[in-house]
Amino acid sequence: MSTKYDIVVIGGGPAGYVAAIRAGQLGFKTACVDQWLNRDGSHAFGGTCLNAGCIHIIIASGSTPVELPMAKFDGDKIVDSWGALEFGEVPKRLGVIGAGVIGVELGSVWSRLGSETVLIEAMPDFLPIADAAIAKDAARQFKKQGLDIRLGAKVSKAEVKGDEVVVEYEAKDKTETLTFDKLIVAVGRRPETAKLLDGVDVKLSDRGFVEVDADYKTSVDGIYAVGDVIGGMMLAHKGEEEGVACVEKIHGEKVEVNYETIPSVIYTMPEVAWVGKTEQQCKDEGLDVNIGSFPFAANGRAKAMEQAIGQVKMIADAKTDRILGVHMVGPYVSELVAEMVVAMEFGGTAEDICLIMHAHPTLSEAVHEAAFSVHGRAIHAMNKKR
Ligand code: NAD
Repeated sequence: MSTKYDIVVIGGGPAGYVAAIRAGQLGFKTACVDQWLNRDGSHAFGGTCLNAGCIHIIIASGSTPVELPMAKFDGDKIVDSWGALEFGEVPKRLGVIGAGVIGVELGSVWSRLGSETVLIEAMPDFLPIADAAIAKDAARQFKKQGLDIRLGAKVSKAEVKGDEVVVEYEAKDKTETLTFDKLIVAVGRRPETAKLLDGVDVKLSDRGFVEVDADYKTSVDGIYAVGDVIGGMMLAHKGEEEGVACVEKIHGEKVEVNYETIPSVIYTMPEVAWVGKTEQQCKDEGLDVNIGSFPFAANGRAKAMEQAIGQVKMIADAKTDRILGVHMVGPYVSELVAEMVVAMEFGGTAEDICLIMHAHPTLSEAVHEAAFSVHGRAIHAMNKKR
C-alpha cells in the first residue's frame, strides 16, 4: 500500500468522508482515516452522525458530549446522547439536564414514548437560539404533551443511589431535588481534538476549536479543518458543505459556503425549523422589518393530517422586501424550510413567494400565506392592522 497521498482526511464523519470523496473526484490521491470503534470493538466509518443514530433522531459530528463534573456519565443511569438511544426499556422517570437542541429532541422522544420527563435548563428562556415566538409556541406544544420544562434551573449535583438518580438544582435561590430512573446529560458538545492534535502545533481558540481562515487552512501549512471541530453551528450539513468547499478550494476553485442560509431543524413532534435571522436579531441590528405569520390551524392539509398545530413566521426587510428569516413550528417543517433556503440563496422577496403558485392542499401553502401576511393580505387568516 502506498504511504504517500495528496490529501489525508483525518476523521470519517460527514465533514471528513464527504471531503475525501470530493478530493478523489477531483483527482487527488486521497486517504481517509478514522479511529471510531463500535461498542463491540469493530471499526466503522461515518462518525457519530451515522454510528450513534443521529440520522430521522440526533445529528452530531466531529465533537463529543460535554461531561459535567458533578454528573459524570456511568453508561447506565447517567448517560450522554448516545447512551440515551440505548435504554433497554422506557424509563418511568427521566431527567434531562440541558434544554438545548439535543435535550429537547431526546426529552420529546422519550416523553412521547411514555416517560415522565423533566427538562432542567439553566437559562431563563426556552430555546434562545430560535425565534422567541416560535420557541414559545413550541414550548406550549411540548408542555401539552406532558414535557415538564424547568427554566432558570441550574443542576448542581447528580448522584446515583441504588436504582435511582437524585438530582439537585438551584432555582430562585432555592435548592430543589428530583429523583429519576435515568438521567440524560445534554449540556453541549466540545470539539474532538485531544488525541488528534497531540504533538501538532495547530492553533486552537480559547474554547478549543481549531482556528481556520476563510479557506479552512489552519495555522500549520498543509493542514485544513472543517465541521464541528472549527466551531460555528454544530450541524452535519454545515460540515458536509465545508468538506466539499475545502477540497474544491485546494483544487483552485472559487467556492464559498453561505453561512447566512444554514437551515436549522429540531427533530421533535411538532418539528421546529428556521433559516436566517430571528426577530430579536433584526431588532438588535436595528433593521426595519415587516413580519407575517400563518397558523397551521388554518391549513387544510395540516387539518386533514390531524396535525394542525404551530405556525410559519416570515421576516422581510421593510424597504427591499428581501426575506431575512423564516421560522416555523409544525408538521414537516424540516422539509418546508428547504423552499425558504432556496428563496434566500437567490435573494428572494416575500412578494416573490406570493407570486409563486403552491399546490393545494399542501403544507407549503402555509409558507405561501405567511408571505402574503408579510404584506397584510393573508387569504385564510386574519391580518394584523398596520
Ligand atoms: P446546547 O449548547 O445546544 O444546549 C445545552 C444546554 O444545556 C444549554 O441551554 C445550557 O444552558 C444547558 N446547561 C448547561 N449546564 C447546565 C446545568 N448545570 N444545569 C442545567 N442546564 C445546563 O447543547 P446540545 O443540546 O448538547 O447540542 C450540542 C450541539 O449539537 C449544538 O450545537 C446543537 O445545535 C448540535 N446538534 C444539533 C442537532 C440538530 O440540528 N437537530 C441535533 C443534535 C445536536
